[in-house]
Amino acid sequence: MFYLLKCFIQMKILLNNNDLNEALNKASNLGFIPTMGSLHKGHISLIKKSQKKCKKTLVSIFINPSQFNNKKDFDTYPRNNKKDLKILKKLKVNFVYIPSIKQIYNFKRTSKIKLNKNDKILCAKYRKGHFEGVIDVMDRLTNQIKPKNIFMGEKDFQQLYLVKKYIEKKYPTKVIACKTVRNLNKLALSSRNFLLSKKELYKAEKLIQNLMNYKKNIREKKNMQKIIFDKKRELKILFNINIEYMELRNILNLKKSNKIKNSKIFIAYYLNNIRLIDNI
Ligand code: AMP
Repeated sequence: MFYLLKCFIQMKILLNNNDLNEALNKASNLGFIPTMGSLHKGHISLIKKSQKKCKKTLVSIFINPSQFNNKKDFDTYPRNNKKDLKILKKLKVNFVYIPSIKQIYNFKRTSKIKLNKNDKILCAKYRKGHFEGVIDVMDRLTNQIKPKNIFMGEKDFQQLYLVKKYIEKKYPTKVIACKTVRNLNKLALSSRNFLLSKKELYKAEKLIQNLMNYKKNIREKKNMQKIIFDKKRELKILFNINIEYMELRNILNLKKSNKIKNSKIFIAYYLNNIRLIDNI
């Protein structure tokens, strides 16, 4: 009976602030999953976690122009709204928010969002303005939606770290970390994987497998940073790829680390012109 009732619950598609206000009027205990669409099992795991923990779940699909520091990257980012809506309907998500750029950027900030000097590392160092754009959009979305919990993936670890710090300081909202979902060959699922050729996909899988084995067998030494740097050089040559960064950092504060415990290897690399990130 309960199952049958659930089947009749309609997923509401919201396009603007008025729709949001009307639909969310009485929705307390709301779980929110911000996405840029082209949904895969990584996004689905976040949605399922929200459905378990929260009374109602809202997924947003918004490709945020201000977080792309490269227009071509924004233009070629995969877009699959029709397929996404089908997936979300099947998952019985309560609300989908698909705002226009105007709906989100409907006011000008009085003070710019700035990163601390210590946070200008990893992706922030190489993608100028990227996280300022991410934090800006997350602030605007949280302000409009007022969720109890936001679910974000560890796949984008630095994003999760910075958004959590900003949002939990400003709102009574909790940002909940969700484990990275990988394919059978250990590659982290990503919308950008849709842009890879079969050969490139294979290369990415082999690279991540190599790095996982390496991390598993690594022995702690004094000069870990140098050891990781040498490994980066080895991978660069072995796979003939451009590795933007590969660093061992503490997961609690993202500081460079010489210890394996509580640390991960953070990597950003290019296959053809597609930029992929992961943390192992
Ligand atoms: P995106 O659509 O790429 O902006 O991602 C939306 C959310 O899904 C972010 O919180 C990501 O960290 C998360 N996400 C993306 N890929 C994965 C994955 N493979 N496993 C877990 N979460 C993911």
